[in-house]
Amino acid sequence: MRKKLITALALLLCSLLPTTAADYAGNRVRFRTLIIWDPNAESAHVEFDKQAMQFFHKLSYGRGFVYDTRTDCPTSVDTLKLYDVVVMLNTLPHNAQARDAFRQYMEQGGGWLGFHATAYNDANTHWPWLNEILGCGAFLCNNWPPQPALVDVKKNHPVTRSLPQQFVVPASEFYQFAPSPRKNKNVEVLVSISPKNYPFGIKDIVTDGDFPIVWTNKKYRMVYLNMGHGDEEFIDATQNLLFVNAFRWVALGKQK
Ligand code: ZN
Repeated sequence: MRKKLITALALLLCSLLPTTAADYAGNRVRFRTLIIWDPNAESAHVEFDKQAMQFFHKLSYGRGFVYDTRTDCPTSVDTLKLYDVVVMLNTLPHNAQARDAFRQYMEQGGGWLGFHATAYNDANTHWPWLNEILGCGAFLCNNWPPQPALVDVKKNHPVTRSLPQQFVVPASEFYQFAPSPRKNKNVEVLVSISPKNYPFGIKDIVTDGDFPIVWTNKKYRMVYLNMGHGDEEFIDATQNLLFVNAFRWVALGKQK
């Protein structure tokens, strides 16, 4: 009993200590992650965010990586540079200082995984660089209500190699952007809503158009995933594998 208590205390102490160079050298901690979310976002996005944080927490078992969470985007590039990868769950920098810090971080080789509303942009966003890093135009339309979808997978990429050519993703709200990121020569589209879904939606119906939902802009170390709405996003092993692959690839991109 005493031994168990001592082990538990040692583990607790370990988890409270900052990551040290020795952690990295010993491969005990391979990278550091910052997860940013917005507790005041719409409720379906908060539901996803909370489940996503649980998902990433489980991936961190054994301290393969360590992570911090926060509800605002850092306004200093030096803060961002403490991390190998920044995960934005349905949120994005809202003020000029935080936007500039994030831009500098990415231009200096930072890693970014963005989910769902992180990429939502319209006439009120006033942040052209968001389109630059995403490699696409503004939000165009979405299906409603959230529903599952058949997706096509482009398999010749480390993020998608282990996935089937097609699979059905859990219920979500999906955004179509115009122009499509596929039109950008720097973008590699990894997963798209299959045209076989059209007409896609019940209240809001998408009838046609190119519909990528996961892609990477090769100018940066990033993957954007359009999933991120509601409480059913983590019920599917294949989609979970996609999330793990994307996270791992961005975080360890330089190591392959
Ligand atoms: Zn949504």
